[in-house]
Amino acid sequence: LNELIDSHIHLDDERFAEDRSQLISEALKAGVSQFIVPAVSLSRFAAVTELEAQHPQVEYALGLHPYYLSEHQPEDLEILQEQLTQSSAIAVGECGLDHHLKNLDRDRQLHFFESQVKLAKNLDLPLILHVRGAVDAVFTVLQKHDYYRAVMHSFNGSVEQARQVTQRGVKLGFGPAVCNPAARKLHGLIESVDPAHILLETDAPDQPFYDRQGKRNRPVDLCRVNAEIARRKHMPEAELAAVTTLNTQRLFAS
Ligand SMILES: [Zn+2]
Repeated sequence: LNELIDSHIHLDDERFAEDRSQLISEALKAGVSQFIVPAVSLSRFAAVTELEAQHPQVEYALGLHPYYLSEHQPEDLEILQEQLTQSSAIAVGECGLDHHLKNLDRDRQLHFFESQVKLAKNLDLPLILHVRGAVDAVFTVLQKHDYYRAVMHSFNGSVEQARQVTQRGVKLGFGPAVCNPAARKLHGLIESVDPAHILLETDAPDQPFYDRQGKRNRPVDLCRVNAEIARRKHMPEAELAAVTTLNTQRLFAS
């Protein structure tokens, strides 16, 4: 059995309300030993904290995600800081920049993102980053603050961008999208990235597998992500599992 860690899973999502515990035990039996659950807005902070209290395999992060920009209030950043200091959150996130969605004001996104980078640096916590069409913009902020303890989740930048950010120590998260046979760019990326920089994720319940459209991802699906990346990198599954688990433990170590 390979020991795996899901570095990015929204276990607090409503779509898991009915069978969450069952899905967690199913994943545990398959070797997934830990789940890192990032909150996306202030309204989710209580839910992820509660999950951690109920399930010993759950760790959580607190952050303000750019998708929910319209929900975020300036004082949320103060509350975030307070809760990060007092709670057992292991990271700041999910936060970042999204340049695909046109209705998200970029200056306001940048303000919330940069504030969270400062917070992470001050508190010496890793960042869980949402980066869509914005690898360079996100990296510029990290460079400005000289802080690279971070994972760019569901990474989909170029080979050159991957090289640039991993050189500074930023980790890259890969999930179910790699299983799509049509995702050629992503496959080239996977082949080029050293396993020492890779973290595994399901992003469940989001990002359905290409052959399971319309269905939610489950925690157990991390095994399939590991198998596919190992196959693409011509590595034994056990070896990729061991490396990525170590990468994840190191990034999130307190
Ligand atoms: Zn996410």
